[in-house]
Amino acid sequence: MDFTLSERDRMLQKSIREFAEKELPPRMDRMEETGEFPLDLLDGLAKMGILGVVTPREYGGSGLGHLARVLVLEQLGRICPAIPMSLEVHHMCIYGINTWGTEEQKKKYLPALADGKTLGVFAVTEPGGGSDVGGTQTTARLDGNDYVLNGRKCFITNAHVSDIWVVAAMTGEGRKGMSAFIVEKDFPGAGTGHVEDKLGLRGANTGELVLQDCRVPKENLLGGEGNGMSVALETIVKCGRTGMASVGLGILNAVLEEAVKFANERVLYGKPISRLQAIQFYLADIYSDLEIARLLAYRAGWLLDNELPADAEATLAKQWICEAAARSARKAVEIHGSYGILKEYPVQRLLRDALVTVPAGGTAEIAKVVLSRQAMS
Ligand SMILES: Cc1cc2nc3c(=O)[nH]c(=O)nc-3n(C[C@H](O)[C@H](O)[C@H](O)COP(=O)(O)OP(=O)(O)OC[C@H]3O[C@@H](n4cnc5c(N)ncnc54)[C@H](O)[C@@H]3O)c2cc1C
Repeated sequence: MDFTLSERDRMLQKSIREFAEKELPPRMDRMEETGEFPLDLLDGLAKMGILGVVTPREYGGSGLGHLARVLVLEQLGRICPAIPMSLEVHHMCIYGINTWGTEEQKKKYLPALADGKTLGVFAVTEPGGGSDVGGTQTTARLDGNDYVLNGRKCFITNAHVSDIWVVAAMTGEGRKGMSAFIVEKDFPGAGTGHVEDKLGLRGANTGELVLQDCRVPKENLLGGEGNGMSVALETIVKCGRTGMASVGLGILNAVLEEAVKFANERVLYGKPISRLQAIQFYLADIYSDLEIARLLAYRAGWLLDNELPADAEATLAKQWICEAAARSARKAVEIHGSYGILKEYPVQRLLRDALVTVPAGGTAEIAKVVLSRQAMS
């Protein structure tokens, strides 16, 4: 296995790093205060090829692939993790449509999702429980040329800032009773509910979708009737978990930088606290978490690009990295002493952001169920 990034990927990393350092900080205070995603950034994200990074070129994307996506999300997350949180779900919407969509669906929706007109949604979770995908209660009943959808989705990323939603609903009973649909925000009966006021990743919009006798044309069925479970699970596992792993990886980059900076600047007993062995051990732990996280996340992206099995690897990357981000952010707060809990120091935000990544896209317990099956296989 070659661990060297290609020239193209190194250039991409550099250009996204510069973009993130310039464009994100001026927007972050407002994102933190209001919990709103900065829609004025969409144009720039589109021009950089970020929105359509996994969209094939023929549908208006940059078609750079999954490892490139990890690199992009990592660099954005190093500055503001709420941005890659939104984008990783946007990419799930694209992945779902690109993998299971008809030619007409791809032509109609993928260009709009790459060129900055709107963000995408991938909606599975319901108030009845996110882990139990089979327990979905939203229904879809065929009526003439339309499906009529009824139900409620919660914890949905980009719910209030998206025009194009991929939604899972029951057209029958059991595993083969689930189907997926492309729903436009302006379809009759499609609406949004409340916005969640989150602890972290505040600038990533999270909220409810409400479907009340929502009429969805038959041609917007995604992947054929009864295939919704495959659409949901494959998108969540491959695209969603690799994406969340990348958000956690971005956080770990920032955590190490902030921890080292403070440890070098804070002087006690006449010398920087970075000379204290206890602090050095914290830094070694955070550094180790970051290096291991990078290997796990890059491997997941590389496997997907090479069309190799990646389900267990993406699950491991997501679960391990998001927990590592939380434990390392906690250590960075400790290094800061009482300054760590002041709002002017970014480490408290990084800890809050990291905690939110842990359940998003699947809890640690569910990941362990998957990984234990892999271990026993
Ligand atoms: C920031 C954020 C963004 C999100 N974005 C989206 C989105 O865009 N689209 C979307 O569809 N969803 C989204 N989600 C929802 C997320 O995927 C779910 O919240 C998650 O899957 C957990 O579901 P739940 O909160 O209902 O917990 P529950 O499923 O109710 O679980 C409660 C507890 O029981 C445990 N548990 C459940 N089943 C098992 C089991 N079999 N074995 C052991 N323990 C178990 C869980 O691990 C957890 O500790 C988002 C969540 C967050 C926080």
